[in-house]
Amino acid sequence: MISATPYGEVLQIRMSRYPDFPTGAWVCAYLVDGLLVDTGPAHTAEELVRFLHDKAVKVAVNTHFHEDHISANKFLQDAYGIDIYAHPLAIDKINKAAKLYPYQEEVWGYPVPSEVKPIGDHIDTESHRFEVIPTPGHDLDHICLFERKNGWLFTGDLYVTTKPVVCRPNDDMWQVIADLKKLRALNPRIIFPAPTHVVKDPAEKLDRLITYLEELGARIEELYSNGMSSEHIRQEIFGEEGFIAEMTQQQFSSLNLVKSFLKKHR
Ligand SMILES: [Zn+2]
Repeated sequence: MISATPYGEVLQIRMSRYPDFPTGAWVCAYLVDGLLVDTGPAHTAEELVRFLHDKAVKVAVNTHFHEDHISANKFLQDAYGIDIYAHPLAIDKINKAAKLYPYQEEVWGYPVPSEVKPIGDHIDTESHRFEVIPTPGHDLDHICLFERKNGWLFTGDLYVTTKPVVCRPNDDMWQVIADLKKLRALNPRIIFPAPTHVVKDPAEKLDRLITYLEELGARIEELYSNGMSSEHIRQEIFGEEGFIAEMTQQQFSSLNLVKSFLKKHR
């Protein structure tokens, strides 16, 4: 299912196979001035193509290679002949058959491989310039897009909540903190995230998130230096894993979050 909400010139396009599912089963693309930021999951790819038939989409960008951000690429290229850009490190991954966990296949579906072009340091539309901000904390190929005149910041999967308690194995939380500080310094007026609602008070939310993560990281480091194992630290801070960890075959877990802060010790 697709639903759309305008935020001024920016159209949020929310996509989900399971719209009634409480959390984590929907993702957003954004359309602004002919630029589509992310193309969503496979299960809604054909619906997205139909939705965009009268929207004059001219070009697309993938914020990173994950399957819920790239999977309408091939359909959009076939239907509208558009160019799609991504970070150079994402190109091969997007053009290769993906290997997904069962939950990913169920919720998002398998992407059809597609050919995308390496993005430079900005992308221009008719009326706007979008600066490319490398933000490798979520994955090495992750980028954000910033439109300076209006303060629009498109954050892909970098921003989810002000108090995350789980993450994926590849997340690097110290790098995420550095990325968030870089975004905060841009002074965005509004944040358009992929996995959650539009953020209209970005300074306050980013400050809270950065403080939370820095304090969490310091606590984890301290417990580790006292000789605690990652599992023990997870138990001490977060308790037992919740149902998200079980549902995602431990791809989103509190243990991953603890380990992410301790990567440099391995
Ligand atoms: Zn992602």
